[in-house]
Parts: sequence; C-alpha cells; structure tokens
Amino acid sequence: MKLAEFPEDIRNYLIPEPSGSMLYRCLMCRDEFDIDHLLYTCPSCGGILMLSHQSAPALPARDGALWRRIFDFRRMLNVNPLKGIFRYYEFIAPIIPLEFIVYLGEAHTPMVMANDQLEGAVGRPFYFKNEGLNPSLSFKDRGMACALSFLNYLAKSKGIGDLLTICASTGDTSASAALYAAYLTDLLKSAVLLPEGKVTAQQLSQPLGSGATVLEMPGVFDDCMKVVETLSETYPVALLNSKNSWRILGQESYSFEIAQNFDYRVGDKVIVVPIGNAGNITAIISGFLKFLAANLIAELPTIVGVQSEHANPVYRYYLEDDTSQRQFAPVEVSPSVAQAAMIGNPVSMPRVIELVRDYNEAAERKKIFFLEVSEQEIMDAMIVANKNGNISCTQGGESMAGFIKAIGQGLVPEGEIGVLAATAHVLKFSSFQEMYLTDQFPPEYKVKPRREFRNIPIHVKPKGMGKILETGTPTRGKDREAFIHEIVAEIARIVDLKKR
Ligand SMILES: *Cc1c(COP(=O)(O)O)cnc(C)c1O
Ligand SMILES: [Zn+2]
Repeated sequence: MKLAEFPEDIRNYLIPEPSGSMLYRCLMCRDEFDIDHLLYTCPSCGGILMLSHQSAPALPARDGALWRRIFDFRRMLNVNPLKGIFRYYEFIAPIIPLEFIVYLGEAHTPMVMANDQLEGAVGRPFYFKNEGLNPSLSFKDRGMACALSFLNYLAKSKGIGDLLTICASTGDTSASAALYAAYLTDLLKSAVLLPEGKVTAQQLSQPLGSGATVLEMPGVFDDCMKVVETLSETYPVALLNSKNSWRILGQESYSFEIAQNFDYRVGDKVIVVPIGNAGNITAIISGFLKFLAANLIAELPTIVGVQSEHANPVYRYYLEDDTSQRQFAPVEVSPSVAQAAMIGNPVSMPRVIELVRDYNEAAERKKIFFLEVSEQEIMDAMIVANKNGNISCTQGGESMAGFIKAIGQGLVPEGEIGVLAATAHVLKFSSFQEMYLTDQFPPEYKVKPRREFRNIPIHVKPKGMGKILETGTPTRGKDREAFIHEIVAEIARIVDLKKR
C-alpha cells in the first residue's frame, strides 16, 4: 500500500528515522562501551556483552496500542528494508539508517498448525514455526541480517574496507554468515571454521557456494569457538558468532513475530526452542521482555528450552532449584542428531542466567523451564512431525520431544497452545532421516528406528522387463506398449489398487 493511503494518524510513524544511541553493556562489571568499534567481550573484565538502546525522548511516550498499530500497518508497507526483521526497527537497532539495511528475504516465517493426528499424538494444539524457510534455511539469518546491516553501516560510514568476517559453526551459522557476507562482497571477505565431519554435506556446500574460505579442523564446535575467539582478540576480524550482540538483537524478531501473529496475546502460549550455544533462547526471552516493557503485550508466554541428553549443560545447571547453589559446568558432548545444538559450553550462558531471572520476576512466577530429551525421542518426533505434513529438522524434533515432555510434566495446562521452533530446513539434515528410515544409525547415537516408519525406495521391475529396458534408457517401438502394461500392473500390485 502507498504511504499516502494509510490513515493519517499513523503515516508519520511508518518509515522510521534513526534515533537515540546504542551502547554495549557488560553483564559482569556493568561497564558501558560505545559501538564505534568491533567489540565482542568486555575490554575491562572479559565479560559477555549485551546491547542497549538509549531511546530518544519520543519513544517511550508511545503506548502499547500505538506500537501495535504501527507494526500492523507497517506489515502492509512496501519498503524493502522494513520487510524483514526491521519491521520492528525501533526494537532492534534503531540507529542504523535504512539505506544500510541488508534484506535477503529473512524472517516472517510461517507458523503451521499441527493437524488433528499430530495434535492427538502430542496432547495439545501447537504450531511449528518454520525457520527452515529463511534464505539460508535456518533461523540464523535473523541475527545475521542485523549483524551485517550494522557492519555495513559501520564500515561504510567509517570508511573501513576489506574486512574479514569469521565464525565457528555447527553448520548453519557459517551458511548464513557466508550468504550475507557474499551480498556485501564489495566490503567483506568471509571465512568459516567448522569441526571436521560434524556438519552435514548440505551445510558444508552452503558457504562453499557463497565463496567463503571454508576451514575444517579436528575437535568439536567448542574447540572451533575457542579458536575464533582467540583470532578475534588478536586480529582485526569481525566475529559473527552469537557472542556478537547484534545477532541477538536480530533474533529477537522471532518473539515479536509470534506476538504479532497472535494479535499480541501470548500469555497462553508455550514457546519451545532447542538450545545449543543459547543465543536463540537469549533473544527469545529478551524479545518478549521488551514487548512487555513497552506494553505491546500484557502477559509473558511460557518458554521451554530443550536439550539432548548428549549435550545438556543448560538443563543440568537448572536442575538445582536453589539459585544460590547453582553452578555452571561445561559438559563433554556425545554425537547428537540435533547436531546444530551439539554444544557443551554455550557462549550465551551468562545472558541466559540474567534474563531467566528477570523473566520469572516480570512474570511473577516461574515461566521458563529446561528439559532434556533422548536422541530416540528427537528422531521419533521429527519423523512423526514430517509424516504429518511438516518440514521439521532434527532440532525441530527436539522441540517437539520437549513439548511432549513438558505436557507430561504438567507444564502445559489445558487450553494453552505450543509454538515449536523448527530451527532449520529438514533437507539440511536428510542424512539423519536416511539413517532412521534405513536403520543405519551408528551405535553411539542410541537410536533404534520404529519399524513401522521404515521407508526405502521400491524398485519396480516386473519379471521379463530386463531385456526391454535398461536403467536410464528410454523404451522404444513395440516394446513400449508391453512395458507400460507390465509396469502398471506391477505398481497396482505394490500400492494395492483394485481395477475399476
Ligand atoms: C544454531 C542452531 C540451534 C541452536 O541455537 P543456539 O542459538 O545456538 O542455542 C538450533 N537449531 C539449529 C538448526 C541451529 O542452526
Ligand atoms: Zn566487564
């Protein structure tokens, strides 16, 4: 819709102007730093950072009803930079001029309601939010759109060129980072660091196709993370892991969208998300808190963070109920089908600890829970979800297995509705699907496929057809008719059809 056609009282709010200023704030020593240079940890104490916005005086004066109107009308606006995460511009990074915003089609992913069969099997109504429909096929694009928009702004306004971006990855961060860096090819070169053999072939192909320098090293993700952290402390590189607080801001759009898609009523929703490096759950908590503070929503949803038994440090931390007794200890991971979340020492843990406390305080009761699920439960859930019309990856299966567990533990009262993150596209993880459908899982995963789900291609080859037809060559002449006849009969037999 053209700007002139919007109601007069809303028109002036639709295309935002940069306002206020932003600061890095250290979660440990509370020191603040300006955003004029690249910063990933606190220069005073080494603590982890979050970004805060010192708003211009006009912003807090807007009430919740006005914000809701702005976002609902902005949805109809055809202005490119405001089509993705920056629909919520004022709540994300309201200092970046629109001309620097990079939009590659990310965000506003569909929420797909579980059909009756799946709802019946799980026990409550729920939606999958299909993050696999982002441009690099995972939710990572939300954070990357923000981080790269800021980098674009910083580099161009400060005349920095030839910057190298770098990240460690379980697969999806590198796919996303390389894609966005490739779009800014005049400005950036990108390198990604992967644990050898621990990303799928599809994930490996993504940064290669985007032209990144792809580095594989022995060890697991946690080792790669240590290497890129050391690199970013020693050399002038732009780190694109979720230690980079701009990524957290972009990922907060996930919460904003859920709120908007339920007409800002989320008190009866249960948001379920897998946890790896804990950037996404950090952003989800922070996002809902911001919308509550601005009166866009009246009540906070329940949040359930899910981990595999094979990579469960956050779950273990919260096993201790007494907050004064809690102690974080990294774990050594074992192979997990939720490979993108196979992380033993999550970088965002200090953010989680602070935000979970704030969230439960704001909700005036415990509204965030952490659960663990087995590899078997993850795979069974993914297979069942996809057999009912979804496109869930293994991490989406982890969400669903966690939702089932949450219902079993009485955390989801009758009448509440789940929103489960399917964090990537299932095709990135088709190797796990194949191991399941063909019963080929290596023993360390401890996954035994359910027999009724076994599914392999059936070769249709009626007896006597061999001489008529070779694989890959077309049938010719008289043989063709006989061939069609034979093969139709054979297919009818296999799929059990009766003649009309
Ligand atoms: C990165 C990733 C996760 C884990 O998210 P964190 O923010 O690291 O906790 C889960 N699923 C997929 C598909 C991912 O790419
Ligand atoms: Zn500090």
